[in-house]
Amino acid sequence: MRLDQTVDPQTTLQENSSGMIGCTVCGNKRLKPFFSIPELPVDVGRSFADESSALAAPMGNVELVFCHRCSHIFNRQFRSELITYAPGYEVALYHSPVFREFMKTVAQRLIDQFDLRNKTIFEIGAGRGWFLRLLCQLGANRGFGIDPAVPLSISCEQEVDHICIYRDYFDARFSERFRLIAPDFICCLSVFEHIPHPWHMLRELRTMIGSKPTSLYFEIFNAHAAFARTEVWSILYEQCSYFTPQSFAWAFQRAGFRIIQSGPCYQGDQYLFVEAATEGPPPQAVAEDDECGLDELTIPAALTQFTQAFADIQSSWQQRLGQFATAGKKVVFWGAGGKGVSFLNLLPAASVIRHVAESNPDKQGKYIPGSGQRIVAPPRPHRTALDRSSLQRHRSPRKHVGLRRAAYLTGTCSGHLLEPTGASGPP
Ligand SMILES: [Zn+2]
Repeated sequence: MRLDQTVDPQTTLQENSSGMIGCTVCGNKRLKPFFSIPELPVDVGRSFADESSALAAPMGNVELVFCHRCSHIFNRQFRSELITYAPGYEVALYHSPVFREFMKTVAQRLIDQFDLRNKTIFEIGAGRGWFLRLLCQLGANRGFGIDPAVPLSISCEQEVDHICIYRDYFDARFSERFRLIAPDFICCLSVFEHIPHPWHMLRELRTMIGSKPTSLYFEIFNAHAAFARTEVWSILYEQCSYFTPQSFAWAFQRAGFRIIQSGPCYQGDQYLFVEAATEGPPPQAVAEDDECGLDELTIPAALTQFTQAFADIQSSWQQRLGQFATAGKKVVFWGAGGKGVSFLNLLPAASVIRHVAESNPDKQGKYIPGSGQRIVAPPRPHRTALDRSSLQRHRSPRKHVGLRRAAYLTGTCSGHLLEPTGASGPP
Protein backbone atom coordinates (compact mmCIF):
# COMPACT_ATOMS: atom_id res chain seq x y z
CA MET A 1 0.00 0.00 0.00
CA ARG A 2 1.58 3.24 -1.10
CA LEU A 3 1.25 6.42 0.83
CA ASP A 4 0.74 9.85 -0.46
CA GLN A 5 3.48 11.54 -2.40
CA THR A 6 4.45 14.10 0.23
CA VAL A 7 6.70 12.12 2.51
CA ASP A 8 7.50 13.53 5.91
CA PRO A 9 11.26 14.22 6.05
CA GLN A 10 11.37 12.74 9.54
CA THR A 11 9.95 9.42 8.48
CA THR A 12 11.32 8.79 5.01
CA LEU A 13 13.39 5.69 4.40
CA GLN A 14 15.55 7.69 2.01
CA GLU A 15 18.58 9.30 3.54
CA ASN A 16 18.11 12.95 4.37
CA SER A 17 20.68 15.68 3.91
CA SER A 18 22.58 14.63 7.03
CA GLY A 19 22.78 11.03 5.83
CA MET A 20 20.56 9.77 8.66
CA ILE A 21 17.47 7.64 8.29
CA GLY A 22 14.70 8.13 10.82
CA CYS A 23 12.35 5.64 12.45
CA THR A 24 9.17 5.30 10.39
CA VAL A 25 7.02 5.55 13.52
CA CYS A 26 8.72 8.18 15.70
CA GLY A 27 11.42 9.80 13.54
CA ASN A 28 14.20 8.88 15.97
CA LYS A 29 17.68 8.60 14.42
CA ARG A 30 19.11 6.23 17.04
CA LEU A 31 18.61 3.03 15.09
CA LYS A 32 20.50 -0.19 15.67
CA PRO A 33 20.87 -2.65 12.76
CA PHE A 34 20.68 -6.27 13.88
CA PHE A 35 19.74 -8.48 10.92
CA SER A 36 20.32 -8.46 7.19
CA ILE A 37 19.59 -10.60 4.15
CA PRO A 38 21.25 -9.71 0.86
CA GLU A 39 18.38 -10.69 -1.44
CA LEU A 40 14.76 -11.72 -1.14
CA PRO A 41 11.99 -11.67 -3.76
CA VAL A 42 10.21 -8.35 -3.39
CA ASP A 43 6.75 -9.82 -4.13
CA VAL A 44 5.96 -12.96 -2.14
CA GLY A 45 2.31 -12.53 -3.09
CA ARG A 46 3.10 -12.82 -6.75
CA SER A 47 3.53 -16.14 -8.52
CA PHE A 48 4.80 -16.46 -12.08
CA ALA A 49 3.39 -18.17 -15.16
CA ASP A 50 6.66 -19.82 -16.14
CA GLU A 51 9.89 -20.90 -14.48
CA SER A 52 12.23 -18.50 -16.26
CA SER A 53 10.13 -15.48 -15.25
CA ALA A 54 10.04 -16.75 -11.68
CA LEU A 55 13.82 -17.17 -11.58
CA ALA A 56 14.21 -13.58 -12.83
CA ALA A 57 11.83 -12.15 -10.21
CA PRO A 58 12.94 -8.78 -8.78
CA MET A 59 14.89 -9.03 -5.53
CA GLY A 60 15.56 -6.56 -2.71
CA ASN A 61 17.77 -6.21 0.35
CA VAL A 62 16.68 -6.48 3.95
CA GLU A 63 18.43 -4.62 6.78
CA LEU A 64 16.33 -4.61 9.93
CA VAL A 65 16.98 -1.84 12.42
CA PHE A 66 15.65 -1.34 15.95
CA CYS A 67 14.47 2.06 17.22
CA HIS A 68 15.57 2.77 20.77
CA ARG A 69 12.81 5.27 21.37
CA CYS A 70 9.61 3.51 20.32
CA SER A 71 10.85 -0.11 19.85
CA HIS A 72 9.80 -0.18 16.21
CA ILE A 73 11.68 -2.43 13.79
CA PHE A 74 11.80 -1.81 10.06
CA ASN A 75 13.75 -2.61 6.91
CA ARG A 76 16.00 0.38 6.37
CA GLN A 77 16.77 -0.70 2.79
CA PHE A 78 13.16 -1.05 1.75
CA ARG A 79 12.32 0.56 -1.58
CA SER A 80 8.61 0.78 -2.28
CA GLU A 81 9.22 1.41 -5.97
CA LEU A 82 10.39 -2.20 -6.36
CA ILE A 83 6.93 -3.53 -5.52
CA THR A 84 3.85 -3.33 -7.66
CA TYR A 85 0.62 -4.24 -5.93
CA ALA A 86 -1.58 -5.17 -8.86
CA PRO A 87 -4.30 -7.71 -9.70
CA GLY A 88 -2.70 -11.12 -9.27
CA TYR A 89 -0.97 -10.22 -5.99
CA GLU A 90 -2.43 -12.68 -3.49
CA VAL A 91 -1.53 -13.24 0.15
CA ALA A 92 -4.98 -13.62 1.70
CA LEU A 93 -5.52 -16.46 4.15
CA TYR A 94 -9.24 -16.87 3.59
CA HIS A 95 -8.62 -20.19 1.87
CA SER A 96 -7.99 -21.50 5.38
CA PRO A 97 -11.15 -22.57 7.25
CA VAL A 98 -9.40 -21.75 10.53
CA PHE A 99 -8.71 -18.20 9.41
CA ARG A 100 -12.23 -17.74 8.04
CA GLU A 101 -13.70 -18.80 11.35
CA PHE A 102 -11.42 -16.38 13.20
CA MET A 103 -12.48 -13.54 10.90
CA LYS A 104 -16.16 -14.26 11.51
CA THR A 105 -15.55 -14.05 15.23
CA VAL A 106 -13.72 -10.74 14.85
CA ALA A 107 -16.44 -9.30 12.60
CA GLN A 108 -19.23 -10.20 15.03
CA ARG A 109 -17.27 -8.81 17.97
CA LEU A 110 -16.66 -5.49 16.17
CA ILE A 111 -20.33 -5.25 15.14
CA ASP A 112 -21.44 -5.73 18.74
CA GLN A 113 -18.77 -3.56 20.33
CA PHE A 114 -19.09 -0.59 17.96
CA ASP A 115 -22.77 -1.08 17.13
CA LEU A 116 -21.95 -1.48 13.45
CA ARG A 117 -25.49 -1.74 12.15
CA ASN A 118 -26.71 0.37 9.25
CA LYS A 119 -23.36 2.14 9.29
CA THR A 120 -20.74 2.98 6.66
CA ILE A 121 -17.52 0.98 6.78
CA PHE A 122 -14.28 1.64 4.93
CA GLU A 123 -11.49 -0.91 4.54
CA ILE A 124 -7.93 0.01 3.55
CA GLY A 125 -6.36 -2.86 1.60
CA ALA A 126 -9.68 -4.64 1.16
CA GLY A 127 -8.43 -7.25 -1.32
CA ARG A 128 -11.41 -9.17 -2.65
CA GLY A 129 -13.55 -7.54 0.04
CA TRP A 130 -14.05 -10.76 1.95
CA PHE A 131 -13.90 -9.19 5.44
CA LEU A 132 -15.76 -6.07 4.30
CA ARG A 133 -18.61 -8.23 2.96
CA LEU A 134 -18.69 -10.09 6.23
CA LEU A 135 -19.11 -6.87 8.23
CA CYS A 136 -21.78 -5.63 5.85
CA GLN A 137 -23.75 -8.87 5.72
CA LEU A 138 -23.68 -9.50 9.46
CA GLY A 139 -24.54 -5.91 10.40
CA ALA A 140 -26.59 -4.68 7.40
CA ASN A 141 -23.88 -2.11 6.75
CA ARG A 142 -22.70 -0.33 3.64
CA GLY A 143 -19.06 -0.94 2.73
CA PHE A 144 -16.35 0.82 0.77
CA GLY A 145 -12.86 -0.52 0.21
CA ILE A 146 -9.68 0.31 -1.64
CA ASP A 147 -6.86 -1.93 -2.82
CA PRO A 148 -4.63 -1.80 -5.91
CA ALA A 149 -4.61 -5.61 -6.13
CA VAL A 150 -8.37 -6.21 -6.38
CA PRO A 151 -8.72 -9.14 -8.81
CA LEU A 152 -9.89 -8.19 -12.29
CA SER A 153 -12.87 -10.52 -11.85
CA ILE A 154 -14.34 -8.11 -9.29
CA SER A 155 -16.20 -5.05 -10.53
CA CYS A 156 -14.74 -1.87 -9.12
CA GLU A 157 -16.03 1.65 -8.54
CA GLN A 158 -19.65 0.54 -8.60
CA GLU A 159 -21.80 -0.46 -5.68
CA VAL A 160 -22.93 -4.08 -5.77
CA ASP A 161 -24.83 -5.53 -2.82
CA HIS A 162 -23.96 -2.47 -0.72
CA ILE A 163 -20.23 -2.93 -1.41
CA CYS A 164 -18.01 -0.69 -3.53
CA ILE A 165 -14.29 -1.33 -3.94
CA TYR A 166 -11.78 0.95 -5.66
CA ARG A 167 -8.78 -0.61 -7.42
CA ASP A 168 -6.20 1.94 -6.34
CA TYR A 169 -3.69 2.90 -3.67
CA PHE A 170 -4.90 4.67 -0.60
CA ASP A 171 -3.18 8.04 -0.66
CA ALA A 172 -3.90 11.76 -0.64
CA ARG A 173 -5.60 11.52 -4.05
CA PHE A 174 -8.42 9.68 -2.31
CA SER A 175 -9.14 12.46 0.19
CA GLU A 176 -12.14 13.99 -1.55
CA ARG A 177 -13.80 10.62 -2.14
CA PHE A 178 -13.07 9.66 1.47
CA ARG A 179 -14.91 12.74 2.71
CA LEU A 180 -17.93 11.81 0.59
CA ILE A 181 -17.89 8.27 1.96
CA ALA A 182 -17.60 9.64 5.52
CA PRO A 183 -17.14 6.24 7.16
CA ASP A 184 -18.23 5.48 10.71
CA PHE A 185 -15.71 2.68 10.99
CA ILE A 186 -12.36 1.99 9.33
CA CYS A 187 -10.55 -1.34 9.22
CA CYS A 188 -7.23 -2.46 7.83
CA LEU A 189 -6.06 -6.07 8.10
CA SER A 190 -2.63 -7.49 7.24
CA VAL A 191 -1.71 -4.36 5.29
CA PHE A 192 -0.35 -1.80 7.74
CA GLU A 193 2.97 -3.66 8.15
CA HIS A 194 3.53 -3.28 4.39
CA ILE A 195 3.24 0.50 4.45
CA PRO A 196 6.60 2.25 4.12
CA HIS A 197 5.69 5.22 6.32
CA PRO A 198 3.08 3.97 8.80
CA TRP A 199 2.90 6.98 11.08
CA HIS A 200 2.67 9.30 8.12
CA MET A 201 -0.22 7.21 6.76
CA LEU A 202 -2.07 7.38 10.08
CA ARG A 203 -1.59 11.12 10.31
CA GLU A 204 -3.01 11.53 6.79
CA LEU A 205 -5.92 9.30 7.72
CA ARG A 206 -6.57 11.32 10.86
CA THR A 207 -6.62 14.50 8.79
CA MET A 208 -9.04 12.96 6.27
CA ILE A 209 -11.42 11.91 9.05
CA GLY A 210 -11.66 15.46 10.35
CA SER A 211 -14.19 16.08 13.09
CA LYS A 212 -16.44 13.05 12.53
CA PRO A 213 -16.30 10.56 15.43
CA THR A 214 -14.79 7.44 13.89
CA SER A 215 -13.58 4.09 15.22
CA LEU A 216 -10.85 1.92 13.77
CA TYR A 217 -9.68 -1.69 13.81
CA PHE A 218 -6.17 -2.48 12.55
CA GLU A 219 -4.65 -5.95 12.59
CA ILE A 220 -1.06 -6.85 11.73
CA PHE A 221 1.45 -9.67 11.86
CA ASN A 222 2.82 -9.98 15.41
CA ALA A 223 6.51 -9.45 14.75
CA HIS A 224 7.24 -9.17 18.45
CA ALA A 225 6.11 -12.77 19.00
CA ALA A 226 7.81 -13.96 15.80
CA PHE A 227 11.17 -12.61 16.94
CA ALA A 228 10.72 -14.11 20.40
CA ARG A 229 9.97 -17.51 18.82
CA THR A 230 12.79 -17.11 16.29
CA GLU A 231 10.42 -17.60 13.37
CA VAL A 232 13.22 -16.89 10.96
CA TRP A 233 11.22 -17.46 7.77
CA SER A 234 8.79 -14.67 8.68
CA ILE A 235 11.10 -12.03 7.24
CA LEU A 236 9.56 -10.83 3.97
CA TYR A 237 10.69 -7.96 1.78
CA GLU A 238 7.35 -6.25 1.33
CA GLN A 239 6.71 -6.49 5.05
CA CYS A 240 8.85 -3.44 5.73
CA SER A 241 7.57 -2.82 9.29
CA TYR A 242 7.90 -5.22 12.24
CA PHE A 243 5.78 -3.69 14.98
CA THR A 244 6.08 -4.41 18.65
CA PRO A 245 2.95 -3.86 20.75
CA GLN A 246 4.46 -0.58 21.97
CA SER A 247 5.34 0.86 18.57
CA PHE A 248 2.01 -0.26 17.09
CA ALA A 249 0.01 1.55 19.77
CA TRP A 250 2.28 4.56 19.84
CA ALA A 251 1.90 5.13 16.09
CA PHE A 252 -1.85 5.59 16.60
CA GLN A 253 -1.52 7.79 19.65
CA ARG A 254 1.05 9.99 17.99
CA ALA A 255 -1.22 10.39 14.97
CA GLY A 256 -4.11 11.63 17.13
CA PHE A 257 -6.09 8.49 17.94
CA ARG A 258 -7.15 7.15 21.31
CA ILE A 259 -6.42 3.47 21.91
CA ILE A 260 -9.52 1.60 23.09
CA GLN A 261 -7.77 -1.70 23.43
CA SER A 262 -4.92 -3.58 21.81
CA GLY A 263 -3.24 -6.94 22.11
CA PRO A 264 -2.47 -10.27 20.45
CA CYS A 265 -5.00 -12.35 18.53
CA TYR A 266 -5.42 -15.29 16.10
CA GLN A 267 -4.20 -18.66 17.26
CA GLY A 268 -2.85 -17.16 20.45
CA ASP A 269 -0.61 -14.36 19.31
CA GLN A 270 -0.04 -14.65 15.56
CA TYR A 271 -1.40 -11.13 15.04
CA LEU A 272 -1.61 -7.85 16.93
CA PHE A 273 -4.71 -5.70 16.86
CA VAL A 274 -5.55 -2.14 17.79
CA GLU A 275 -9.01 -0.73 18.33
CA ALA A 276 -8.88 3.05 18.32
CA ALA A 277 -11.08 6.10 17.98
CA THR A 278 -10.73 9.72 17.07
CA GLU A 279 -10.25 12.03 19.97
CA GLY A 280 -10.32 15.79 19.67
CA PRO A 281 -9.20 17.66 16.54
CA PRO A 282 -6.56 16.26 14.16
CA PRO A 283 -3.03 17.00 15.40
CA GLN A 284 -1.46 20.02 13.77
CA ALA A 285 2.08 19.16 14.75
CA VAL A 286 3.90 16.55 16.75
CA ALA A 287 7.00 17.33 18.76
CA GLU A 288 9.90 15.22 17.56
CA ASP A 289 11.17 14.79 21.08
CA ASP A 290 8.06 12.89 22.16
CA GLU A 291 9.08 9.94 24.26
CA CYS A 292 7.44 6.58 24.65
CA GLY A 293 9.52 5.02 27.36
CA LEU A 294 12.66 3.53 25.86
CA ASP A 295 15.90 5.35 26.33
CA GLU A 296 18.66 2.77 26.17
CA LEU A 297 20.97 1.89 23.37
CA THR A 298 21.02 -1.79 24.22
CA ILE A 299 19.23 -4.03 21.79
CA PRO A 300 16.70 -6.54 23.18
CA ALA A 301 18.15 -9.99 23.72
CA ALA A 302 15.43 -11.57 21.57
CA LEU A 303 16.73 -9.68 18.54
CA THR A 304 20.36 -10.70 18.93
CA GLN A 305 19.23 -14.27 19.59
CA PHE A 306 17.11 -14.12 16.46
CA THR A 307 20.14 -13.31 14.33
CA GLN A 308 22.08 -16.26 15.74
CA ALA A 309 19.08 -18.55 15.47
CA PHE A 310 18.68 -17.66 11.81
CA ALA A 311 22.25 -18.77 11.09
CA ASP A 312 21.80 -22.01 13.06
CA ILE A 313 18.47 -22.92 11.47
CA GLN A 314 19.70 -22.06 8.02
CA SER A 315 22.73 -24.31 8.53
CA SER A 316 20.61 -27.15 9.88
CA TRP A 317 18.22 -27.07 6.93
CA GLN A 318 21.08 -26.87 4.45
CA GLN A 319 22.37 -30.10 5.93
CA ARG A 320 18.99 -31.85 5.91
CA LEU A 321 18.16 -30.85 2.38
CA GLY A 322 21.62 -31.94 1.29
CA GLN A 323 20.94 -35.37 2.75
CA PHE A 324 17.69 -35.58 0.79
CA ALA A 325 19.56 -34.72 -2.40
CA THR A 326 22.26 -37.32 -1.69
CA ALA A 327 19.63 -39.98 -1.01
CA GLY A 328 17.79 -39.12 -4.23
CA LYS A 329 14.59 -38.25 -2.36
CA LYS A 330 11.78 -36.36 -4.02
CA VAL A 331 10.85 -33.48 -1.74
CA VAL A 332 7.70 -31.40 -1.95
CA PHE A 333 7.42 -28.25 0.11
CA TRP A 334 4.08 -27.32 1.65
CA GLY A 335 2.76 -23.79 1.35
CA ALA A 336 3.43 -21.06 -1.22
CA GLY A 337 2.85 -18.25 1.28
CA GLY A 338 5.38 -15.74 2.50
CA LYS A 339 7.26 -18.06 4.84
CA GLY A 340 7.50 -20.66 2.12
CA VAL A 341 8.94 -18.17 -0.36
CA SER A 342 11.53 -17.06 2.22
CA PHE A 343 12.50 -20.65 3.05
CA LEU A 344 12.92 -21.63 -0.58
CA ASN A 345 14.95 -18.53 -1.42
CA LEU A 346 17.23 -18.40 1.61
CA LEU A 347 18.49 -21.97 1.37
CA PRO A 348 20.65 -22.82 -1.64
CA ALA A 349 20.08 -26.53 -0.89
CA ALA A 350 16.33 -26.00 -1.41
CA SER A 351 17.05 -26.54 -5.09
CA VAL A 352 16.37 -30.21 -4.30
CA ILE A 353 12.70 -29.18 -3.97
CA ARG A 354 10.97 -28.96 -7.34
CA HIS A 355 7.31 -28.72 -6.28
CA VAL A 356 5.33 -26.73 -3.71
CA ALA A 357 1.90 -27.98 -2.63
CA GLU A 358 -0.55 -25.11 -2.13
CA SER A 359 -4.29 -25.09 -1.39
CA ASN A 360 -4.92 -21.70 -3.02
CA PRO A 361 -6.18 -22.64 -6.51
CA ASP A 362 -5.13 -19.25 -7.93
CA LYS A 363 -1.49 -20.16 -7.38
CA GLN A 364 -1.57 -23.73 -8.60
CA GLY A 365 0.23 -24.26 -11.90
CA LYS A 366 2.41 -21.19 -11.36
CA TYR A 367 5.98 -20.78 -10.04
CA ILE A 368 7.59 -19.47 -6.84
CA PRO A 369 9.36 -16.09 -7.25
CA GLY A 370 13.14 -16.28 -7.11
CA SER A 371 13.59 -20.01 -6.50
CA GLY A 372 11.30 -21.15 -9.34
CA GLN A 373 9.53 -24.23 -7.89
CA ARG A 374 6.27 -25.24 -9.56
CA ILE A 375 3.14 -24.87 -7.40
CA VAL A 376 0.83 -27.88 -7.40
CA ALA A 377 -2.44 -28.87 -5.76
CA PRO A 378 -1.94 -30.78 -2.51
CA PRO A 379 -3.20 -34.32 -2.30
CA ARG A 380 -6.72 -34.09 -0.90
CA PRO A 381 -6.24 -35.82 2.48
CA HIS A 382 -3.62 -33.21 3.43
CA ARG A 383 -5.69 -30.10 2.77
CA THR A 384 -7.65 -30.00 5.98
CA ALA A 385 -4.76 -31.30 8.02
CA LEU A 386 -2.66 -28.33 6.97
CA ASP A 387 -5.18 -25.88 8.30
CA ARG A 388 -5.42 -27.65 11.61
CA SER A 389 -1.77 -28.15 12.17
CA SER A 390 1.15 -28.37 9.87
CA LEU A 391 3.32 -29.78 12.59
CA GLN A 392 1.87 -33.26 12.66
CA ARG A 393 3.10 -36.28 10.81
CA HIS A 394 0.97 -37.68 8.05
CA ARG A 395 1.28 -40.52 5.62
CA SER A 396 1.32 -39.63 1.99
CA PRO A 397 -1.74 -40.96 0.14
CA ARG A 398 -0.90 -44.04 -1.86
CA LYS A 399 -3.31 -43.12 -4.64
CA HIS A 400 -1.73 -39.76 -5.42
CA VAL A 401 0.74 -40.98 -7.99
CA GLY A 402 2.56 -37.72 -8.67
CA LEU A 403 3.37 -36.97 -5.06
CA ARG A 404 3.25 -40.48 -3.63
CA ARG A 405 6.90 -40.99 -2.87
CA ALA A 406 7.66 -37.41 -1.96
CA ALA A 407 8.73 -36.15 1.40
CA TYR A 408 6.68 -33.15 2.48
CA LEU A 409 8.19 -30.17 4.21
CA THR A 410 5.70 -27.99 6.00
CA GLY A 411 5.19 -24.30 5.40
CA THR A 412 6.08 -23.48 8.96
CA CYS A 413 9.56 -24.87 8.37
CA SER A 414 9.87 -25.83 11.99
CA GLY A 415 11.67 -29.00 11.19
CA HIS A 416 8.78 -31.41 10.95
CA LEU A 417 8.36 -33.61 7.98
CA LEU A 418 5.25 -35.10 6.45
CA GLU A 419 6.66 -38.50 5.82
CA PRO A 420 5.62 -40.56 2.81
CA THR A 421 5.03 -44.28 2.77
CA GLY A 422 8.23 -46.07 1.99
CA ALA A 423 10.49 -43.07 2.41
CA SER A 424 12.72 -42.42 5.34
CA GLY A 425 12.46 -39.21 7.33
CA PRO A 426 15.21 -36.79 8.15
CA PRO A 427 17.60 -37.42 11.00
ZN1 LIG B 1 10.84 4.89 16.70
